[in-house]
Amino acid sequence: MEYTVPSSHPRYRSLMEREKLIQGYEKGLVATQGLIAHGRGEAFDYIIGEETIPPAKRALEAAAASLLLAKWPIISVNGNAAALVGEALARLSNRHGIPLEVNIFYRTEERHRRIIEHLRSLGARRVYGDQLVEGVPGLESSRRLVDPRGILRADVVVVLLEDGDRTEALKRMGKRVIAVDLNPLSRTAMNADVTIVDNVTRAVPLLDSLLDQLGKRPKSELERRVEEYDNRRTLGEVLLFIKERLEKLAVELGVTMRE
Ligand code: ATP
Repeated sequence: MEYTVPSSHPRYRSLMEREKLIQGYEKGLVATQGLIAHGRGEAFDYIIGEETIPPAKRALEAAAASLLLAKWPIISVNGNAAALVGEALARLSNRHGIPLEVNIFYRTEERHRRIIEHLRSLGARRVYGDQLVEGVPGLESSRRLVDPRGILRADVVVVLLEDGDRTEALKRMGKRVIAVDLNPLSRTAMNADVTIVDNVTRAVPLLDSLLDQLGKRPKSELERRVEEYDNRRTLGEVLLFIKERLEKLAVELGVTMRE
C-alpha cells in the first residue's frame, strides 16, 4: 500500500526520499542492499544538518569545472540514484551532453534493464550500459562490465553512492573520479579526486546549475579551479564542520566545552 507523507511533517523531505526508494524497490530498480546503504547515508545527512555545507559547495565547483574540461565525461548510475534523482539526472544529462551509464553492484540482467528503461522513460537521451564488455581489471566478473561508449573510454567519471573497490579500480585505469557520498570516511570518499559530501538529491540539481554558471567562464579559469582543488583538505574541512556543528549542539544542551 502506498503511504502518503503529509507535507507538514517535520521530516517530510527525508520521508519522501524513503518513499521514492521503496517505490524504486517495488519497481525492481533498487536492490535490498540499496535500502541499507540509504540508511547509512541518512545518518550522515542528519549529522551535517541536511543541507549542502560549504566544503561540498567547493567540491561541486571543482566537479563542474572537471566535467566542463572533460573530453568524455560520464555519470555512472545505480538503482538508488535512479530512484532518488532519475529525473534530475536525465535533465542534467540532456542539457549538458553528459551521458549516463547504468552500472550496478548487485547485478541482475533484469534490474539492469529496468534502470535503463526507467531513465529513458524520464527522457534521458543518452543512456549507456546496454553494450557491455569486460573492461575494469581487478574486480570480480560482473562488476568488470562497462560500456565501451561510456565508462570504458571516459576520462572523467561521476559515481553516485559507489563502493570503494570500484572507485579504486576506476582510478587505477587513469580516470578522474568525482564521487557524491554522504560518508566522508568511506573508501570512495577518500579515493576519489573530487568528493562531494552531500545528498545526491541536493547535489545533482546544484551540479546542473553550476555547469551553466561555470560553462560561461574561460577555460583557463576552469583549469585553475581544478588545479587548486585539494580533495583531502576538503574532506578534512567536512570533518571539522561536523565537529564544530556537534560541539555547538552539545553546548546548546548545556555542556561546557573544555579548552
Ligand atoms: P566504501 O566501500 O566506499 O567504504 P560503503 O561500504 O559505505 O563505502 P556502500 O554501502 O556500497 O559503500 O555505499 C553507499 C554509500 O553511499 C555510503 O557511504 C552512504 O553514506 C552513501 N549514501 C547513501 N545514500 C546517499 C545519498 N542519498 N546521497 C549521497 N550518499 C549516499
